[in-house]
Amino acid sequence: MNMNASSVIHTIILILIPLVPAITYSESIVHEHKAHTHGISEIKLIISDGTISIKFESPANNIVGFEHAASNTEEENQLKRAHSILSKPASIFSFQGANCTSIPSSVTIDGLTKEPHKHQPANKHQPHSTHKEITAEYQFQCKSSEDLTSIETQLFNKFPNINEINVMWISDKNQGMSVLNPNNPQLFVE
Ligand SMILES: [Zn+2]
Repeated sequence: MNMNASSVIHTIILILIPLVPAITYSESIVHEHKAHTHGISEIKLIISDGTISIKFESPANNIVGFEHAASNTEEENQLKRAHSILSKPASIFSFQGANCTSIPSSVTIDGLTKEPHKHQPANKHQPHSTHKEITAEYQFQCKSSEDLTSIETQLFNKFPNINEINVMWISDKNQGMSVLNPNNPQLFVE
């Protein structure tokens, strides 16, 4: 095959063009393989028969600032700090209109454990996902839950890397979706 300089350059450009977006987006905060966008966390909330169940799900990056296994003391301290905050439901959620208290030992937190580093075989071309979620589940028992008007969260103050929380909620009489942010941390459930 006889390729002159111009066709070689042309070939190189054709090879490079598809790579450009990949290089650009590899540092992007959007991870398309999963509904996981840094800065955005999720809450699923069920209000039923005087009990409020809350499932909080978040990219670990929003909570501790990284998504790999903790590799130094500072990162381990970040994990401890996050675990401590997430273990205190009363300081994360407050309820207006109803008297709700956290049910003892109803808190479960996943994804905050130190994991051994996983080595991927070099010849495998499967995408190596470094993304990690942290989830926490809570249950509250409420008196006069039918009078509950709103739920406010302190998660934005505790974890400033959270920019938005998408909330899906369902109660015995209604349901809805809502987007909370640091200026609007209150979910209305009427
Ligand atoms: Zn991620």
